[in-house]
Amino acid sequence: MFGLIQFPAGTKTKQNAGAASVGRTALFGIEIDPLTMTQAVSRVFDWIVEPPPQCQIVVTPNVDHIVQLQTNAGLQQAYRQAGLVLADGWPVVSASRWVGRPLPERVPGSDLVPEIFRAAEARYLRSPAGSGAKLRVFLLGAAPGVADRAASKIQEAWSGVEIVGTYSPPLGFEKSESECDSILARIDAAQPEVLVLGLGAPKQELWAAKHQDRLSARVALCVGATIDFLAGEKKRAPQWVQALKMEWLHRLLSEPKRLAKRYWHDACVFPRLVWAEFFRLPT
Ligand code: UDP
Repeated sequence: MFGLIQFPAGTKTKQNAGAASVGRTALFGIEIDPLTMTQAVSRVFDWIVEPPPQCQIVVTPNVDHIVQLQTNAGLQQAYRQAGLVLADGWPVVSASRWVGRPLPERVPGSDLVPEIFRAAEARYLRSPAGSGAKLRVFLLGAAPGVADRAASKIQEAWSGVEIVGTYSPPLGFEKSESECDSILARIDAAQPEVLVLGLGAPKQELWAAKHQDRLSARVALCVGATIDFLAGEKKRAPQWVQALKMEWLHRLLSEPKRLAKRYWHDACVFPRLVWAEFFRLPT
């Protein structure tokens, strides 16, 4: 039988400072914050208004991340350091309901980012004219040029957001200490409030966790292909497909070569995790 990951009692790990993990829902070996989109946006703005002791990492687990988490110790550690863990996909939310520990709704990273921008816009429009209270955002990730295109579109769409920097790191950057130092220096020079990390999972989570102490942002959002979506480089599923809870299928059909093997593996493992969770005794 496929087991859920266990964190041995007394294991000493770096825990997130400044985030409340009280009230999290234990599911599939991780703990997820049972928040709605509105509550998640509000939590992010709490950190923007009142800076936490260190940059807060936001992760958005989908089925694939949960499957990876069963065997990737580095990713487990990154999740322990996260200030917010939000359920990205419908399969995760549906499974949570089936096992009797319901999450209120899905909070995908690619919706969370525009929602934060919308909230910044609303705050900016309400602020006294000329006060310049824009949300400072840095975009890190995606192919060369994509983050710049996303930056232009963001600034056209949301006047309450200022893109203070973009960078597309070269392949393998995470293995080069000097390249990482230089990226951290760029972020530090730009002093963003929000860092949008679009490096794919688990790279973005591992990188954010490794450099958490040195990240000069209040919040780091690990949100996969969101920069591509904002640039118009990749297309989200139409609303009706999302309403049918089939966004995963749209994603699969748009990148079959890259995703087919991964989805097949996930489809074999995830049901076993749900089954194991269903028969777990209440704690
Ligand atoms: N990416 C990147 N640097 C890397 C690896 C990936 O900037 O070293 C970007 C890639 O260009 C794309 C995004 O990460 O914009 C991948 O996001 P996606 O959510 O599709 O990745 P997944 O988590 O599904 O692997």
